[in-house]
Amino acid sequence: MNLEFIDIQSLSAMRNAISEITDLSFSIYDSMGGLLTPPKNGDRLLSQITSYSSGREEYEAFIRKGISKAAIRNDTSILMGPAAQHYLFIPINLSNLILVLVSNPFYLQKNDFEQFLAKNGPRFGISLSSLESWSGLIRIIDYASVQKMSQPVKFLFEAILKSSYERNLNHKRYQWTKTLIDVLFNIQLPVPSEEVYSLVLDAILFLFNVDTASIMIREKGSFKTAMASGRLREDTGSLRIKDNKLLSQSIETLRLASTNDIMEISALGFPDSVTSVQIFPRISCDNTYGILLVYNSILSREESYSILEFLKIVSLVLKNLSLQNAYNKCVNSIEVLNIASARLCPKLHDPDGLYEAIVDTATDLIKAEKGSLMLPENDGLTIKAVKGINKWLTQDIRINAGEGVAGKVFNEGKPFLAKDVETLDPLYPKPRRHYKTGSFISVPLTCNAERMGVLNVSDKTTGEEFTELDLNLLNYFASYASIALKVSGYRNLAEHMKELSITDHVTGLFNRRYLEERFTEEINRSERYNLSFSFGIFDIDDFKLFNDTEGHLAGDAILKELARISLASSRVYDVICRYGGEEFAILMPQTGKDEASHIAERIRKNIKEGFTARWEKFPRSSITISMGIASFPEDGKSAGELTKNADAALYKAKASGKDKTIIHKKQTESSDSI
Ligand code: GH3
Ligand code: MG
Ligand code: MG
Repeated sequence: MNLEFIDIQSLSAMRNAISEITDLSFSIYDSMGGLLTPPKNGDRLLSQITSYSSGREEYEAFIRKGISKAAIRNDTSILMGPAAQHYLFIPINLSNLILVLVSNPFYLQKNDFEQFLAKNGPRFGISLSSLESWSGLIRIIDYASVQKMSQPVKFLFEAILKSSYERNLNHKRYQWTKTLIDVLFNIQLPVPSEEVYSLVLDAILFLFNVDTASIMIREKGSFKTAMASGRLREDTGSLRIKDNKLLSQSIETLRLASTNDIMEISALGFPDSVTSVQIFPRISCDNTYGILLVYNSILSREESYSILEFLKIVSLVLKNLSLQNAYNKCVNSIEVLNIASARLCPKLHDPDGLYEAIVDTATDLIKAEKGSLMLPENDGLTIKAVKGINKWLTQDIRINAGEGVAGKVFNEGKPFLAKDVETLDPLYPKPRRHYKTGSFISVPLTCNAERMGVLNVSDKTTGEEFTELDLNLLNYFASYASIALKVSGYRNLAEHMKELSITDHVTGLFNRRYLEERFTEEINRSERYNLSFSFGIFDIDDFKLFNDTEGHLAGDAILKELARISLASSRVYDVICRYGGEEFAILMPQTGKDEASHIAERIRKNIKEGFTARWEKFPRSSITISMGIASFPEDGKSAGELTKNADAALYKAKASGKDKTIIHKKQTESSDSI
């Protein structure tokens, strides 16, 4: 019964208004004969008659009969009741609800009253002599007038009641839906199906007052109950029913289906306690489609419709939630990427710094007090960086792959979230007395399927458990951290390779590191065999000016060309190297001062003549160099001493006008300028 949607007050007000414009007053009954609104104006004669119990019984039976007749026929009728009085019955049809208006009694003609009085008056304490005094109290309306008024009254009541009924129903529906949406929107992300199912079932049970409801999911040719709620929860909770027309049609056609045929219900496989089933399509959650079953409950059309609408909304909200979830994931990943790149990139060349940055960033991101990074080393895992944990306690800890949670995470490549360590497998060792909470996360670090390590965090700063959200966040970060580790590995390798290389990549000359090695060798060899050798340093003149006027790129091109000319101007066994930015050095084995100065001069001149380009702004007509030379053994017996003296000679060359070579001389002599 949906009487609750009828606004009785406005119903009475309308009844009163109609009483004013017609001669009749109406009482309002529901279709079962329950009185909703008594008549506005009573009837004296009826009161007299019903004061007698026989009169009251007769009257009540008459009204009941009249109401059910009106409700069934759904048409107005004028029926004669006790005391030969007539009553107008007007059924008001509101979709699935029928109300009946019953008028006050009236006589169609005065004669009827007189006949009643003669026949039955004394039974109800009315004597014939009182005819005159009663005449003023009875109503006489002719049949045609009653007939005429009945249709407009029916029409008016129906129109007004329908609109208020719909309005109230809509309002109520709106409230139901609003409550449900509020609840649905408060679900924590990501949405576990169970939570949604239980919410939907609670709502159906609570709002529609059904006996039992369940959600079934189609799965491999049968329908399996995902959850049940209500009186028959036990009976229906683990029900699995073979795919059948009734259930599958509901999913496919999105229509309501129902049966209360006991034979059919039993044949489908429902337990005996089920006497009726109503099937509502379709609840979608996580891409699975389910149906809602309502057992042993009579639902009005309105209610069924509301449930259908409600399920549509649930599906929409769930879809929205999953979109929101995807969006949040996206936003999270971008944020994590930003943070990760800002904090990890500067550490790519510094492995220890990178390890620490990974642990610091991970713990900051998910607000954990403690964290550690484990990297593989000799078939096991070694702790490389920690936060919130004593470094000295952990530095010797080694974990075998597959051992403990971290070892397992490393081996299987799957993240692990422990909400509470106490609920873990009892076999899991619990050396965790120094941890505040029992919740922790371990995520694997992998890059292109290569297992790179494990990142662990524990003790949320708030003291709460870690959630799936934290796990997702840490997973995102772990993927960036893995790439950083990989890149850093390459980078360090590249640097190492650079160290191992002997050439300068700009000029193609030997580099300084190689020169130093050769220098030592040359000293050893020359000492052993009593040989001499010479060492020269040369530097471009006014190269800063060149860069400033012609640009750095043009400067680089000069360096390359200068290298080419120097090589071409020297002998095959001379070692020419790029010594610094625009400084070069030449090691001339088995070469004394004279020969050395000869070679140096050849280089200098060839350079000076080698650049034929005309520059726009550089004010010199040529590129020139200055060189300083020192020889073994007379100018020094160590690399340091020889370098110092060659440098001093170069300084002199610069100081005395540039574009020249100066041979170092012992303090007693003055350096030779060539
Ligand atoms: P000086 O005659 O006294 O040597 O004057 P300078 O300007 O050459 O001397 P200084 O040492 O003050 O300047 C050297 C300049 O060489 C500074 C720098 O701009 C330039 N330089 C050093 N390495 C490179 C390089 O790899 N490429 C280019 N383009 N320029 C370089
Ligand atoms: Mg210089
Ligand atoms: Mg220079």
